Amino acid sequence: MTLSLYIHIPFCSSKCAYCDFYSVPLKKTDSYNLQKKLIDALLIETETRLSVLEKVSLQTIFIGGGTPSILNPDLLSNFLIRLGKITAGLCKNNIEFTTEANIGSCTEDFLDAASSGGINRLSLGVQSFDTSNLEQLGRKCGTADIFDSAAEIRSSWPHSFSIDLISGLNRNYIEDLEKAVRLNPDHISAYQLTVEDGTPLHADITAGKKKRPSDTLQSSAIRGTCSFLKKSGYSRYEISNYSRPGMESRHNTRYWQMQSYLGIGPSAVSSFYDQAPITRTENIRDVIKYIDAISKGDNDDLRSTEILSDFDFLVEHYLMGYRMTAGIDETIFQERFGKHSSFYIPETIAGWQRKGLFCRSRSALTSRGLMFLDRMLADVYDELSSNKNP
Ligand code: SF4
Repeated sequence: MTLSLYIHIPFCSSKCAYCDFYSVPLKKTDSYNLQKKLIDALLIETETRLSVLEKVSLQTIFIGGGTPSILNPDLLSNFLIRLGKITAGLCKNNIEFTTEANIGSCTEDFLDAASSGGINRLSLGVQSFDTSNLEQLGRKCGTADIFDSAAEIRSSWPHSFSIDLISGLNRNYIEDLEKAVRLNPDHISAYQLTVEDGTPLHADITAGKKKRPSDTLQSSAIRGTCSFLKKSGYSRYEISNYSRPGMESRHNTRYWQMQSYLGIGPSAVSSFYDQAPITRTENIRDVIKYIDAISKGDNDDLRSTEILSDFDFLVEHYLMGYRMTAGIDETIFQERFGKHSSFYIPETIAGWQRKGLFCRSRSALTSRGLMFLDRMLADVYDELSSNKNP
């Protein structure tokens, strides 16, 4: 089976106010030992889980977090060498191998270790170059040297390079985009801020200490971002992702095309779409319990397993596929469901096509239609629920 590998590093220097990923602040005391135990556990889990899968062909590898760049560079080198041995013979040629990194911890030593270990794509979390935005997000790094630091990374990193931004926090969002483009990345992700329940940002907004970004501003930021990046040579290929030609994230594209992936590490999710039953697993969201369960070989404590129903599997193809400007991958869809994607939702497609918001030949929303993605998906869900005929 073709597979992507995701490895979760659950450490950050501090917790950002909007973040609901599983990550814990890395304390100075015991930091080295904890990192070492984690990478040993990650390698055991990788080797064990790959060994039970048949004919694996790894298409992409992604080290995410958390903040992978916080890892001790020597430990990262050691980890990458051992990971290379485990995955030798399984990786396709020219595999895309990404690591995430954050400005404060993306040192020369980290970049050297990453590059020597075979990583060929860097995804840098900048989020904003604006002090008030960074404060709103609870990001601890300052803006004084953020641009210089990113510029230095750009000049010393010889491989592909992507920047993550959060767009539409204030009216000056174009300035962030201008600064990002000046760094000449191959790829830019410009996400909208989602205020997740349970985060400090949500609590501050509820208590009236901070303002929720306005929907109107966010909508106009999507349009403004799209048009600015298009003029700057970046094509939109997913609702929040833009790239130079041929530099799309292959790893994330595989998620949106509903291709199988193996997730390693605390909180990591895996989805196996090429086997019956279709299965999704989620690892425990606790780094200490994760390490402990791995050392005991205790899978019950380590992860939960869900069997996806045919209906949920079908729904997810629409939810993920319509995020992309290229739409649903009909080859994959027809292999799995035996029909064109329009077969299951004829009324929704006809209605959205009449409004000029959907292109049937591409199985995709138009660029204007993408502004209403959530509404389209609600219609898709309602029609599929009323038919329940997959
Ligand atoms: S750096 Fe990223 S993963 Fe870490 S707390 Fe901030 S948003 Fe979350």
